[in-house]
Amino acid sequence: MNFEMETITSIASSPSMGAIGIIRISGSLSYKILKNIYRTKSGYKRDKFDTHLMIYGNIVDKNNNVIDEVMVVYMKAPKTYTCEDVVEIYCHGGMIPLQNILSEVLRNGARMAEKGEFTKRAFLNGRIDLAQAESVMDVISASTNDSFDIAISQLEGRLSNQIKNMRLKILNLLSELAVCIDYPEEDIEEITYQQIKNVLLNIQNENKNLLNSAKMGQIIRDGLNVAIVGKPNVGKSSLLNCLAEEQRAIVTDIAGTTRDVIDIMVNIHGIPVRLFDTAGMRETDDVVEKIGVQKSKDIFEKADLVLFMINKAEALTLEDEDIIKNIENKKVIILLNKDDLDEKVDTNYLMDIFSNTKIIKTSLINQIGINELKDTIKNMVYSGHVFQKESTYVSNSRHIRAIENAYEAFKRAIIATESNMPYDFIEVDVRDGYEYLGQITGDSVQEDLIQQIFSQFCLGK
Ligand code: GDP
Repeated sequence: MNFEMETITSIASSPSMGAIGIIRISGSLSYKILKNIYRTKSGYKRDKFDTHLMIYGNIVDKNNNVIDEVMVVYMKAPKTYTCEDVVEIYCHGGMIPLQNILSEVLRNGARMAEKGEFTKRAFLNGRIDLAQAESVMDVISASTNDSFDIAISQLEGRLSNQIKNMRLKILNLLSELAVCIDYPEEDIEEITYQQIKNVLLNIQNENKNLLNSAKMGQIIRDGLNVAIVGKPNVGKSSLLNCLAEEQRAIVTDIAGTTRDVIDIMVNIHGIPVRLFDTAGMRETDDVVEKIGVQKSKDIFEKADLVLFMINKAEALTLEDEDIIKNIENKKVIILLNKDDLDEKVDTNYLMDIFSNTKIIKTSLINQIGINELKDTIKNMVYSGHVFQKESTYVSNSRHIRAIENAYEAFKRAIIATESNMPYDFIEVDVRDGYEYLGQITGDSVQEDLIQQIFSQFCLGK
């Protein structure tokens, strides 16, 4: 543990008003600061604070005036969040008590913590590795139970343990290779090319399995961007309302009334889905509508999935044709809405041009077709897999990149092995793969990357 580190403090509770506010202090001065600012209900200083025991009292300013009535807990290193001495003060949840207590803590020698600095210390002091540290923010920001499950299993170290085990196997291989490289003349039993290849294939297989889970993991963590497109009046807002299960978008029957882009998060079978109801993409002279149309186009470009709505009770128009041209390279579900009305659209033509695309008939005023749509979205994301709490899901794009790089390095090593290249050739690629995997747990990362990762955290974490 590094006792040179300054003592840091921050408000750890939500910045909005709440019933209880929490101030956290971490570092070697924590205990002294608590002693200075804490008084019992009868106004006395306390000689001793037992570790991990919450007690009642007041926090006072330098003139001994009571700032707030509190509960405090002192947690002695190393069994704490940061592995340092930690104090937490629970006061009333308004900004005034929080800020006044924070000022006293600062006056007594702490400094304001940077974003993510508490968790960074937990990492630097070796309590958690980098993947676990990163999952802390995922746990906080998880928006569905499945995304929470992925984050919490990462925090508990499931991914890290798998990576560490893989690295251990690679390290063994590296040391066997090193012996052969360093002592070629000695009478030692050399590892055979077949043995090297077996180890590498085994590792590569594990990498592949992790990458296979990554797409799903990433969507469950980050959500799926879904754009609803279709000409005005086809039922886009109605769909949004059905999926949101509450009235958010205004449903009207005047073409072009949804002028701006509306986006909402919904939970579709555990997948956080960000829905964008676009203003339509038709050319217009109306200035306000023009802005909406441009926004729609931007969203459309970024969408992971497009829901293209067609009015079944009307023949296709130029506007529909325009959209059809634009969605060629997109993942699309076609919604044939207003199924309750007489069919006017040429469904044979649609089935012909969208032969590989799922077409769902909906009647939104009757809430028909919504479940089929939800199931289709789920099946697309899970592509036949079932989300399993016990599985390892790589969900962070930094980790995915590292595994992809490792996979490529092992592939090169396998090719070199198959070509009976000298051991030191093989060793270079195996070592690369080893380093890439180490980036996930933080065993092989540069200081600036660590800085960048923790700067994305929220204050107080
Ligand atoms: P948007 O302009 O694409 O957002 O379309 P809206 O959701 O505002 O719907 C336009 C009109 O179509 C409204 O009057 C809706 O009530 C109506 N509508 C939506 N879905 C259906 C449907 O399935 N059947 C029928 N008959 N009318 C619908």
